[in-house]
Amino acid sequence: MLKRQACARSVRRLATVQGLVLAFALAAVGCGSDGEKGSTEGQPIRVTATVGMVADVVRNVGGDRVTVTALMGPGVDPHLYKASEGDIARLADADIVFYNGLLLEGKMTEVLEKIAQRGRTTVAVAERIDATKLLHPKEFEGHPDPHVWFDVSMWKQTIAPVVEALAAVEPESREQFQANAARFGAELDALHAWCGEQLALVPEEGRVLVTAHDAFGYFGRAYGVEVVGLQGLSTASEYGLKDVRRIVDLVSERRVKAVFVESSVPKRSIEAVVEGCRANGHDVRIGGELFSDAMGEAGTPEGTYVGMVRANVTKIVEALR
Ligand SMILES: [Zn+2]
Repeated sequence: MLKRQACARSVRRLATVQGLVLAFALAAVGCGSDGEKGSTEGQPIRVTATVGMVADVVRNVGGDRVTVTALMGPGVDPHLYKASEGDIARLADADIVFYNGLLLEGKMTEVLEKIAQRGRTTVAVAERIDATKLLHPKEFEGHPDPHVWFDVSMWKQTIAPVVEALAAVEPESREQFQANAARFGAELDALHAWCGEQLALVPEEGRVLVTAHDAFGYFGRAYGVEVVGLQGLSTASEYGLKDVRRIVDLVSERRVKAVFVESSVPKRSIEAVVEGCRANGHDVRIGGELFSDAMGEAGTPEGTYVGMVRANVTKIVEALR
C-alpha cells in the first residue's frame, strides 16, 4: 500500500521531466498528433510492451508478423518502474503499445497517456477483461488488483484485444492472428486445468500460500488456495511484530509446510515467520522463490508465461504436499 502512495507522488513529480523527454522523443521519430500508424509494407508490426507477460501474449498471437520489445526484464518490479529516455523512444516508435493497465505500471501512467494522446494505439490488455471478475482488495484503496495473470482463465481474455489491435494495423493477417489465438487459447485452457489438478494434490488444510507480496489473489481464488500476504513487512519501516504473530499463528495452526519468498523482498521478514513457527513447535521451511510480477530469463522455460506459471505451481505443490 505504501508502495502505491509513494507511487502516486512520484508520478506527479516525474510527469514534467517525462513530458519533456517524451516531447523530444516524439519529435525525433517524426510522430505528429495526426495518429499516423500502420505497418510498412511487408515489415512486421512493431510492438512495444511493458511487462514480459504482456509481450508473451503478443508474441503468441502475432507470430512472425510482429517484433516485440518488452521494456521490463526478469526481476523488474513494474509498480516501481520508471520509463527511461530509451523506453520513451521505443514507446513513441511502436506501431502499437501493449501494457497490463489497472495501474500495474503505476509510474508510467503519464507517459502511456501522452503516447495515446499523440495518436499511438495503446492497449491495456487487463482492462479488457470482464470487469466483474476483478478483485478489489481493501489495501488497493478502491482500485482493482492488477495481478490478473495468475488466474490463467482470466489471462486468456487478453488474447482477443491483442488480435483486434494487430488486425487493425494489418487486416490481411487477421486469419493468421485468429489461428494463433486459437492455438494459444487452447494451450492456456490446458494450463488452467493443469494448475487446478496440481493444487488439488495438496490437502485442503495445507493449501495456504504465504508470500511476501500481494500478487497471488487471483491465483488463490482460481485454484482454491488461501493467500496470506506479508506485504506490510516488505520494508524495514513496515516490519510489524503483530503481523508476524498473525502469520506465525496461522501457519502453525494449519501445519503449513512452507512459506515463499520473492527476490524483491527482504528475506528476514519470512525468516521471522519461520523462527516464530519453530518456537511454536511447528517446523516450516522456505519453499523457494516465486515469479510474481516478472517472468524468468529469456531463452529459459520460465521466460515464457506458460513456463512461469508451471514453475510456480510445481514449486508450490512440491513444497506444500
Ligand atoms: Zn505486484
